[in-house]
Amino acid sequence: MGSTGMDVEYDVVIVGGGPVGLMLASELGLRPGRVLVLERLPEPSGQSRALGLHSRTVEVLDQRGLLPRFSEGAPVWPKGHFAGMRLLDLSKLNGRHTYALMVPQSRTEAILEERARELDVEIRRGHRLTELENGPDAVVATVTGPDGEYRIRSRYLVGCDGGSSLVRKLAGIDFPGTASNIDAMLADVHLDQVPDGPHLARCQGGVFGTVPLGGDLYRVVSVEFRPPAAHRDDPVELEELAASVKRVTDQELPMRDPVWLSRFGDATRQAAQYRKGRVMLAGDAAHVHFPAGGQGLNTGIQDVVNLGWKLAAVVNGSPDALLDTYHEERHPVGARVCFNTQAQLALMDPRPEIGPLRELFGTLMEFDEVNRYLAEMITALDVRYPTFPASDHPLAGTRVPEWSIVVDGTATTTMKLLHSGRGVLVDLTDGPAVARTAAPWLDRLDLVSGTPCTSEVPAAFLLRPDGHVAWLAASPDTDPADLREALRAWFGPAPVRSLPAAAS
Ligand SMILES: Cc1cc2nc3c(=O)[nH]c(=O)nc-3n(C[C@H](O)[C@H](O)[C@H](O)COP(=O)(O)OP(=O)(O)OC[C@H]3O[C@@H](n4cnc5c(N)ncnc54)[C@H](O)[C@@H]3O)c2cc1C
Repeated sequence: MGSTGMDVEYDVVIVGGGPVGLMLASELGLRPGRVLVLERLPEPSGQSRALGLHSRTVEVLDQRGLLPRFSEGAPVWPKGHFAGMRLLDLSKLNGRHTYALMVPQSRTEAILEERARELDVEIRRGHRLTELENGPDAVVATVTGPDGEYRIRSRYLVGCDGGSSLVRKLAGIDFPGTASNIDAMLADVHLDQVPDGPHLARCQGGVFGTVPLGGDLYRVVSVEFRPPAAHRDDPVELEELAASVKRVTDQELPMRDPVWLSRFGDATRQAAQYRKGRVMLAGDAAHVHFPAGGQGLNTGIQDVVNLGWKLAAVVNGSPDALLDTYHEERHPVGARVCFNTQAQLALMDPRPEIGPLRELFGTLMEFDEVNRYLAEMITALDVRYPTFPASDHPLAGTRVPEWSIVVDGTATTTMKLLHSGRGVLVDLTDGPAVARTAAPWLDRLDLVSGTPCTSEVPAAFLLRPDGHVAWLAASPDTDPADLREALRAWFGPAPVRSLPAAAS
């Protein structure tokens, strides 16, 4: 059957119920819309490639009221590393969450699945996408489930199906970049001699690392700078890892009772388009790279915090062109992650001639400005999107700081105002101009009037649902034309009011 002749059953189908697909489901569940997640695994794998959440991810979870679920019992690390040099001082960053929150990927997935189900998003486990047709009016997905093959028609489909994304291939989206050229393994194993804290070192034969996972359970990582000796999906034996650790460190590491063993690489590729017609890509489906600095899952979560509100707006009536801004805003961010992970791997290369470069880079990292630049890049706190109209205010397009304001006698914060996932216009001007200008858009965003708790809070500001500042006015004399342009850009045209019928 072609794309005609079937009713549209869903507004959005999400392929892949990993962390990125489930975060998107949680975002879309905040607004009206029929959303379905297809996940090929009948049960969660329980495996955790990623072990931590960076500051910007912690903030976006906070701005949806989800942080307590993640932070309960999770260790925080005030230091980060660049190329294995544990010198990044996260505690000096601007914001409240100036640390890495150590939450294993399996827990992140479990919390997000629970949240998506609470919001009535349908999740089908054991259902695998096999074909798709990206038509002008709808996407038709062919799915194999426990009861056989079936088709679903949706208005949009998002591939959150990981680095080998079938959605990307079927949609014909190029994935240019470089293949893996390293031989890397990891294992979660019990160690008798336990290292002190996290450890990542450039050694004579490559890179060796350990991460404490609780008790004597450790993640052990061994990276050799030679072409992969086995296929990525081939099983790893503990003896193979032990031999690699010996070659890298020139020391024996007694390991026992492995919980999980796996291979990884440094393939670095990025989708040429994050959107093609009615199909979009997010997370590893859109970008893969060496896991230096723990940025992959974080970048993917931030992809869908950018995409989610736009998709929700479009299925609820905003112009489809809003979805083009997803590629425009997120592709450069993904490209920079690919670039910085390649730079980190180059600095970890064990060849002696890299030593002086690394030493020089380490010295540079001791300068506050360099340290902050790298820390903001790894944590994604420096991401800034264009504003309409363009503005040279230092906060325009950036993530909103956690400002406190008083509304109806009660103190609140910008983080709390974003819990609903709607845009927010905060008016602290004490005049009618802001509210009057925004009146036609109030079905699509919240207008909040109040008084600032500190002098740094601007007189009025418009927040996108992802927490980026779309417009702000430093003083009460605001230009309504600028606000109108920002509202139109992000929340669609003002509705046309019908004129009252003339009296006869
Ligand atoms: C060694 C290592 C360490 C890492 N450490 C970190 C870290 O500390 N921090 C960090 O941010 N990132 C880290 N990463 C990266 C992180 O694990 C990934 O970026 C993250 O898993 C991407 O999430 P995703 O949801 O996009 O894709 P995935 O996690 O790959 O999930 C994709 C999902 O789609 C499903 N799927 C695939 N095909 C289909 C289909 N046809 N139909 C239905 N379902 C399908 C899969 O079963 C899977 O559940 C690390 C990676 C590695 C290899």
